[in-house]
Parts: sequence; structure tokens; C-alpha cells
Amino acid sequence: MAWGVQATRTFRHVMAMHDIHQRRHARLALLAESAGLFAAVLVAVSYSLLLARHTGSVVTIWITNGIVLGALLAVQRSKWPAYLVAAFLGFLAGQHIGHGGLMGQGVALPLALGLTNGVEILTVATVVRHVFPRIADDTRFLLLGRIALGSTLVACVVSALLAATIQRAAHGQPFWITADWWFRAHLLGMVIVGTLTLVALLQRRRMLGRPGRRLLMLRDIVGLTAITAAVFAQSSFPLLFVVFAPLLYVVFQHRFPGLVIGIALISLITTAATALGTGPFQLIVPSTPSRQAMLAQVYLGVLCITALPVALALADRRRLARRVTESESRYRLLADYASDLVMRIARDGSRRYVSPSVHDLLGWEVHEFMPYRAELIHPDDRERVAAAVQQLWETRRPSLTQYRLQRRSGDYIWIEALVRVVPSLDQPGEMELIYTGRDITEAMEAEQALADSEKRLRTITDNVPAVIAHIDAHERYTFVNGYVREVTGGAPEDMVGRTVEEIRGPVLYPVLKPHIERALRGETDTFEYEAEYAGRRHHFQTTYLPATTGNGQPNGFYALTTEITHIKQAEQQLSYLAHYDVLTGIANRRYFSEGINMAVHHAAIANSPLLVMLIDIDHFKQINDTYGHAAGDAVLSEIASRLKASIRKTDLLARLGGDEFVVLCDDIDSQSVAETLAQKITRAMDAPIVTGPHRLKVTLSVGAALCRDAGSVDALMQKADEALYRAKERGRACYELSVTGL
Ligand code: GH3
Ligand code: MG
Repeated sequence: MAWGVQATRTFRHVMAMHDIHQRRHARLALLAESAGLFAAVLVAVSYSLLLARHTGSVVTIWITNGIVLGALLAVQRSKWPAYLVAAFLGFLAGQHIGHGGLMGQGVALPLALGLTNGVEILTVATVVRHVFPRIADDTRFLLLGRIALGSTLVACVVSALLAATIQRAAHGQPFWITADWWFRAHLLGMVIVGTLTLVALLQRRRMLGRPGRRLLMLRDIVGLTAITAAVFAQSSFPLLFVVFAPLLYVVFQHRFPGLVIGIALISLITTAATALGTGPFQLIVPSTPSRQAMLAQVYLGVLCITALPVALALADRRRLARRVTESESRYRLLADYASDLVMRIARDGSRRYVSPSVHDLLGWEVHEFMPYRAELIHPDDRERVAAAVQQLWETRRPSLTQYRLQRRSGDYIWIEALVRVVPSLDQPGEMELIYTGRDITEAMEAEQALADSEKRLRTITDNVPAVIAHIDAHERYTFVNGYVREVTGGAPEDMVGRTVEEIRGPVLYPVLKPHIERALRGETDTFEYEAEYAGRRHHFQTTYLPATTGNGQPNGFYALTTEITHIKQAEQQLSYLAHYDVLTGIANRRYFSEGINMAVHHAAIANSPLLVMLIDIDHFKQINDTYGHAAGDAVLSEIASRLKASIRKTDLLARLGGDEFVVLCDDIDSQSVAETLAQKITRAMDAPIVTGPHRLKVTLSVGAALCRDAGSVDALMQKADEALYRAKERGRACYELSVTGL
């Protein structure tokens, strides 16, 4: 922990030190740049003034403001105050040197002139910076020229008027003469030197020439200097035009650096020679210093106007050429290194370009693949490919074709080719095809394998006696096996793509819907339902099993449906057999036992009485013995149906076994009603039972128990049993009623 805190502190400290270092470094750099500007201004001002003073001429070109303007435009605005102060101090110092001491003319005049220069520089710098915030990256040279020249004209007019006013006030100099030369010298200086300084600062190290060409540049510059010096060393011939050729040569050869250095040297020589009274301008008659200066200015201006556009045009051309080669090589690179087969194909089928990938893809060398080779297309695909190509040329719309191409080794691979019709790059007015083909053999094989496996799956599932289906998240069938035909009579192909609701209809769908929802939520669900097909009722059991894709995403569900109609029927039969007596068709002992258990339970809750009547056929054994077992059976059946007719629907009648029956009534609450019922039962036997040729007189003994709160089934049955016993004892064909709790 302590270490962590310490480390953080150390880190902060280091960062703070780094910051301090950086800021110190930036301050030092600004100081150095300002000092440089100070020196440049000092030299420029003192040179101009000394030259003018010692030769008695006027200043031809005021280079100082151009230097400061170029410097300001080349840096961020935050450096401007420092630069301006440095330039102002340099100006004052230069004035001091140039005039041989400031004191002679007082400090006020240089201060006023310095401020005037400052206004001029700042006006142009501010306007240009406003329109071109990132001048180094801007390529709108024409607009830059217009803005810079316009603002310079205005700034120079203003500064010339100010300067003429100041000079007249200080020395009584004629106003318009001062304003005139100031304007010309400053305009020329700002345009030429401003441009050159800006270019020089933006080019920086490149100003020394490109490595390896520095000696050449030096040679050309020396040549230009020598020719210019020669032209200006004599005053007999108007050879000014001679300078143009070497200057343009230098610009052609060395671009911006050549331009800057060349113009700077010519300006230096021209102004110096003119001030010193030599050079072709001496040929002018009458030759006054002012006229010579004006000619020198025009001359330098024309040189600039001639050479600068050349440098700009060259720079622009180089930039464009670089862009073209860059993009060309980029696309060529793409094609060359693409793993796809890339081709440019002429109308006649011959290739104009084949990417080297043809070797990896097909084993052919590029030159082997250059001519059109229709025989390499798989015979089964040729017709299709030819049709696609023809359609491509007719519609001019991109086409995607899958076909087989023969490799050098003789086997075929599947290719998916995207082909477009485009204007030819090198054959103007002609169209050609751009072809990109990729190997899709694996995909095709996988597709085939998938189709095979689906076929296998279908073969298996079609022979399973169950309907197997897949239903997607939108409740659409995507797969149904053939067994569905057996069940619903529908065909799988008619179901696939349609929804469950469409297929199963408005009656069944609401039944299935909650199960579908559960399966789509990811739950496995098994349920049964009934449906009617072709007029027959079917029972089904269905399991919905949530499905997932290969990567585990939910993907609808599988439905496995088996028909259980026969099971249902067997179940019903079993249930019937378990609860009914086969011979008589009435309830059996088991059914009765369930019924009486429930009745005793309910009666106990409701505190209501229950009536149980045990019924036994009298001397049934004899019937069996006399007429046979079948007659006995017939008698049993007949008695069952007579008993059934004697009781109400709500009463429970059952055969307990042998010749013993029972009736259970749960809504009889008086002895008289119970007796009426018992009599009704015994009297049901009044009519003889006819079986075959025999008419049998059969009687019944009934033991009835009417009980409230019997306590248990056994107790109740016990009472009925005892009553039956008494009835048999009493001589049969009668009833005995035992009543308790009423
Ligand atoms: P009792 O008056 O005392 O009841 O005399 P019984 O002869 O009826 O005697 P019991 O009730 O004990 O005899 C029942 C007889 O019913 C015995 C058996 O042979 C006969 N029996 C039982 N089940 C069947 C049957 O399913 N079919 C026929 N035909 N006879 C049956
Ligand atoms: Mg009997």
C-alpha cells in the first residue's frame, strides 16, 4: 500500500517534471525563434537603410515586413506577440544602425514608423490567417493569391498614407512622394519576401535541397547568381531578360527552394547594383534613383509573377501524380495479393489481366490463363456460363454465377464468379469485364453433404410411425416427415413454409397455442389432444422439444406426434372391464366399493341417511342345475335389467358377484320410502323369466339397511347382510329392513 502511494507520488512528480521540462523547452524555442526574427529584421532594416544612405538612392524593396509576415503566417497565433515584439525591437535596432544612431532624429519617429509597419503586417497576417487557418495544408493557391494580394494592397495603402503623414510632420518631406515610394517598396517586399519567407519556413530542411541533389542545386544557384551578377555588372546592354532562363531552370529543377533562393539572390543583386549605380537600369535616360528603383521593382515583380506559378504548378502536378500512383499501386496490390481470382476480360474473352492467385487456385500460370479457354469450364456448366455472359453484355448488370473450372491437375473446383461490365481503363470507349471468382468447393461440398444428410434423415423419419416436424420461432413448419400423410392426409411439402395456425385450423390451433408458447420459451412439453380427420376422431400424444442451432441459439422446436387412438380405446375398455360386470353390463363390485366409500364419506359430512339393499336370488343354484349355466346367465342378465328398471338413475346398482346384487340410494330419508323401494324390487320378479322354452319363476330376497351415521362401509354392509340373512330365514321372496339413527 505504502509502496503504491509512493509510486503514485513518484509518477506524479515525474510527470510534473516532464511538464516543466516541456514548457521550459517550448519557452526556450520561442525565445530562440524570436531572437532569430530579431536578427533577421535588424539585418534587413539596417541593410536597406545603409544601402540607401550610402548610395543616396531610395529603398527599392522593403524586405523587412515580408520577413515578419512570412514568419507570422508560418506559426501559431499564440507566438505572434513574441514575434511582433522581437520584430519591433529589431526594427528599432536596425533604424539605429541604419541611421547612425537614433538620438539624432529622436525616438518618436522610429517608434511611429515601427508601429505603422506593425499595422501593415498585422492587417495582412490577420486576414490571411482568418481565411486559411491551416495554410501549410491548403492547396487553394489561386484564392490564397487573391486574398493575400488584396489585403496587402489595402494594408500598404494605409501604411503609406500613415508613413507619409509622419515623415512630413517629422522632416517636412513631400507627402505624395513619400507615400508613393513607401507603397511600391512595401507592396513588392510584402508580396515577394512574404511569399518567399512563408515558403522557406514551411519547407524548412527541404530548403537545403533534396539529399543527393544538394551539389546540383548549389551549382545551379551559383550559375544563376553568376549570370545575374554579370547582367547587373554592366550598364551598356539591356540584358535583363537573360536572367529569366536560368531562374526558370532553377525553379524547374529545384521547385520551391530554387524559387526562394533564386528570387532572393536576384533581389539582392538587383537592389544592390541599382543602389550602387550599375546595371541595365542605368540605360534609362534621364536616370534618377527613384525611376531606377521603380524599374527594379517592376523587374522583380515580373520575375516573381513568372516563376511562382511554375513552382505552384509543379508542386500540384507532383501531388496529383503521387496520388495517382498511390491509388494505382494500392489497387494493383489488392488484385495481386487477393486470394480470389481477379481478371479483366475483353469483349472477345481474352484476358487483359489475370491475378497471380490463379496459380494457387487452379494451378495454372498467369500466361497459360491469358487466352480464353472455354474447355476448362465443366461440360455440364458451359451452356449456363455462356448464357450468363451473354446476358451480362446485354443487360450490363453484375452477375453472380456458380460453375466448375478445371484445375491444371485435371480435377474441378466450384467457383463463384461476380462479374461486372465497366469502361475499359486503357481502351477508351470500350467496355470490359471485371471478374472476381472465389473457390466455393468446400461450401458446395458442405451443401451437398447437408442435402445428403437431410435425405438420409427424411428416409429414416418417413418410416417412423410418428409425425416429426420442426417449427421455427415464427411458428412455421420447416420440416415435416412423410408419416403426416398417414395421419392427416396432408403432404409435407404443402406444410413446409406455412404456419401452425394455417395448417391446424381455427379449432385446433387454440388448443396447441399454449403448448407452442411453452416450447418457444424453452420448455419441453408433452400433452394429448383429439382431432378429427376425414370424419374420424383421433387421439394424439405430442412432445414439443425446444430446438437450438449449432451455436446454441434457440431455434423453434421439434414436434413428435404419435397417434394413440387405439391405446385410448384399449384404456377405455380396460377401465370398463375394471368397473362393469361383463355378463349383466351393470357396475361390478369394484365400482360399487368406490361408490359406497364416497357415499359414506359424503353422508357423514352432510349427516344424511344412506340406504343399502343387498339382493340375492333365491335357490339360484337350482336354476343352474336344472336348466344349465347358460340359462342361469340369462336369468342373471334379465334380473339385472329388471332391477335397473325398478330404481332411479341416481341410484347405484351393482352385481357383487354370483347371484348377489346391491342397490345404493343416498337420498332416501324415511323408512316408508325404503320399504316401497324394497317392495318394488321384490315385485319386479312377479313376471316369470323366459329363457328359451322355459318360463321360470324367480324370487329375490332383499336385506335393506337404512342408516344415518353408520360409521363405516363395513358397518353399513354388515347391517344389510344381517337383514338379508333374516329375509332368507323368513322363507325368502321377501325383504327385511333394518333402520338405525333416523
Ligand atoms: P339361496 O336361496 O340360499 O341363495 O340359495 P342358492 O342356491 O341361490 O345359493 P347361493 O346363493 O349360495 O348360490 C349361488 C350360486 O350361483 C352358486 C353358483 O353356482 C351360482 N353362480 C354363481 N355365479 C354364477 C354365474 O355367473 N352364472 C351362473 N349361471 N351361475 C352362477
Ligand atoms: Mg342365492
